[in-house]
Amino acid sequence: MKVLIVDDQLFVRETIKSELSLVAPEVKFDFHEADCGNKAIEMLENKYIDELPAIELVIADLKMENGDGLAIINHMATTRSREIPLAIVSSSDKRTLELIGSITNSFSLNLVGVFQKPLDISEIYASVSANKSVPQECEQSIEVTPICNEANITSLLNEDNLFLCYQPKINIRTGELVGFEVLSRLCIQGDGFIYPDKFIPLIEKSGLNCQFTKLVFNQALSQWHLFEKLKFYSLSVNISANDLLSDDFINYVIDKHLSHSDIKLMLELTESQQTINQDRSIQAIAKFIINDIPISLDDFGKSYSTFDRLDSIPFDEIKIDKDFVTDLDVNLQHQAIVESTIALARKLNVKVVAEGVETLSVLKKLKALGCHIAQGYYISPPIEGRYLMAWINNYNQQNECQHVSC
Ligand code: C2E
Ligand code: CA
Ligand code: CA
Repeated sequence: MKVLIVDDQLFVRETIKSELSLVAPEVKFDFHEADCGNKAIEMLENKYIDELPAIELVIADLKMENGDGLAIINHMATTRSREIPLAIVSSSDKRTLELIGSITNSFSLNLVGVFQKPLDISEIYASVSANKSVPQECEQSIEVTPICNEANITSLLNEDNLFLCYQPKINIRTGELVGFEVLSRLCIQGDGFIYPDKFIPLIEKSGLNCQFTKLVFNQALSQWHLFEKLKFYSLSVNISANDLLSDDFINYVIDKHLSHSDIKLMLELTESQQTINQDRSIQAIAKFIINDIPISLDDFGKSYSTFDRLDSIPFDEIKIDKDFVTDLDVNLQHQAIVESTIALARKLNVKVVAEGVETLSVLKKLKALGCHIAQGYYISPPIEGRYLMAWINNYNQQNECQHVSC
């Protein structure tokens, strides 16, 4: 049985391993360990999720530096890890454990239970055995990656298959929630998710980009209309460079903005030679700006093409690419790039968003550098629409207690 144990204390991990082996001597355990939430998320995301045998149990501590149990819960809730049985362990009081239990249940995770430290491993194992979803030794669940190719992308692209997640952006100084970025997935019934790195190039190649972005707009705006409270927060939608070449699309966005004037819409444009240097694209950007639709320059830093355009195009926001942000606390070169981008943005009166914030240490560094807004797994992975309000309420409560801001 493949088990991932996440706890910042080595002796707790060792105890769990030895006691599990004692409680269930007939089971062949394959233990994997992480000493913080971020490492566990990385393991779940990169290595172990596709590797067989699949992980059959995650045992995670609640309170840890560098990504706590809630970060793991949030991550699992929005990824393929959702099905993995999860046992939360903590030395918090019973009321806190109950709250965590209800948050986890509201995310429809496969929760084995929330257990108080000092741990009674036999209690955890009994709950695991009673949990029907735990795959048996020889019954590995093999995730079927849905087929998505040029031939079937047109038929896959419809409202029913489009599945939007929303990733929060926070004000670094106050910890306040300021908005969300819409991130698309295709969800094929019974087959699972297809991620944008796979389907966006196919959509672009097939010339379906405007049709696709319209679907994204419709679904995201409907979500924002479901709850009045969501209108406090900006809604950022990614636009592809090719979208800017269609007058029909540009007018569609402007109409949507006019008819949903109570929603703080923002467009995220990827920084590319194609976007910035074509006259038609510049005109489209100007048209959006004239119509009070703010533009964010995405993936800033990936190419140098935009530095000379920054002063001529009144972008509202630049998003520093996550490649420069994720390791900024240990990579001095990246730190220098981020620092000079922030200084430049300040001169131009443009807000700076750092994406890919995975740790408290990076968030603190960004705060010291004067960066305005942060987005990343440390705050939350992208959240499914149906859990958005629960997440917001929980975040706002936590932020009032100053848990998230630094
Ligand atoms: P992006 O606009 O740069 O979006 C950020 C990507 O980074 C997202 O990947 C997000 O899930 C991921 N991410 C967020 N926080 C972290 C973090 O802390 N660490 C790391 N390592 N990654 C993080 P995702 O959702 O797979 O999207 C990939 C790209 O696909 C997006 O990059 C965006 O360019 C594109 N995309 C997504 N949705 C849409 C859409 O509706 N329309 C268009 N045109 N493009 C989209
Ligand atoms: Ca983006
Ligand atoms: Ca990016």
